[in-house]
Amino acid sequence: MKVPFMDLRISDPQERQELLNAIDTVFQHGRIILGPEVKELEHRIAEYCGRKYAVGVGSGTDALVLGLKSMGIGPTHEVITTPLSWIATANAITYSGATPVFADIGNDLNIDPQTIESLITPNTKAIMPVHYTGKVCRMPEIQKIAAKHQLNIIEDASQAFGASLNNKKAGSFGKVACFSLNPMKVFAACGEAGMVLTDDEDIYHQLIALRHNGMLNRITCQQPGINGRIDTLQAAILLKRLEKVETYIERRKSIANKYKETLETLVEVPLEAPSEDDSYYTYTIKTVQRDALKEFLSSMGIETQIQHPLLMPQQPTYQSSSRGTFSRAQQKVKEILCLPMNEKLSDKEVDYVIQCIQKFFINAL
Ligand SMILES: *Cc1c(COP(=O)(O)O)cnc(C)c1O
Repeated sequence: MKVPFMDLRISDPQERQELLNAIDTVFQHGRIILGPEVKELEHRIAEYCGRKYAVGVGSGTDALVLGLKSMGIGPTHEVITTPLSWIATANAITYSGATPVFADIGNDLNIDPQTIESLITPNTKAIMPVHYTGKVCRMPEIQKIAAKHQLNIIEDASQAFGASLNNKKAGSFGKVACFSLNPMKVFAACGEAGMVLTDDEDIYHQLIALRHNGMLNRITCQQPGINGRIDTLQAAILLKRLEKVETYIERRKSIANKYKETLETLVEVPLEAPSEDDSYYTYTIKTVQRDALKEFLSSMGIETQIQHPLLMPQQPTYQSSSRGTFSRAQQKVKEILCLPMNEKLSDKEVDYVIQCIQKFFINAL
């Protein structure tokens, strides 16, 4: 049996037809740029996350770059973030002109709020928590620190669409919140897409201009921006998929439960407190035998991934300049392994993954 880590084909005939119909609607009305589907998607996502405004942009990276810029973050400023994320998180901070500063992570792989405060300097302007693996960060503690030091919060919620903490959705905590809707995410377009959320009217107007080269209207440019508008075609696809997002997440949660029940005595599995509702963008286990397990699973036809083998501050581009202390992250990153996790996995495939992991540990004993 072969179990791919991810399968981006759209093979369900009904889903395929629905998406083709959605695309055809756009072909027919012809409002290819910022068409009605964009407005509707923005409205629906703002509502879903309990926010006033949502602005559709070209990617998650655009969302972060424009989100930072809309908050006035730029040169000389520092933004405190996690060391463990997709590199876009740190790059967006750098691209805005600011400097990323790296805190440490907790056992849940998210930023550890207790490691933030010692990194704050007079130049610190914001904290950017990343809801890694689809688990919302310890936001009440982070919000307390931000309030005490008058810092803004910008959430990188790219991996956590649909997740919540204390019944508050990912994307509802920061002054600004950013989503990637790229094809790998839980809520995914068939190409690049992103979304920025806020309750602040001024930030909202900034974002609307920034995604259109800083144009205030058809004539006047108020500040440099980028061409960062979400495609109407992607918005049409996302609107269709939004109807099924809860079902996808439920399926992911049920796979996660099965992994947990069968594997928790063999490896360290992700845990959910009663206040947490995770969306399982990835199912990340930890084991000191990570490399041998990965190789064994690969020999059995099971594709796993290490997200991400290099911490952001360990990347060549940040290595010499990065500030922060992240010894726990340096330890954990050697143990993490993402098992196949997506709504398309069959029960048979999930059982096969479990059996192979069990076999590995029986042989290892
Ligand atoms: C996917 C992702 C991004 C970047 O999103 P793109 O749409 O690929 O630009 C940023 N941050 C995190 C945590 C991500 O997982």
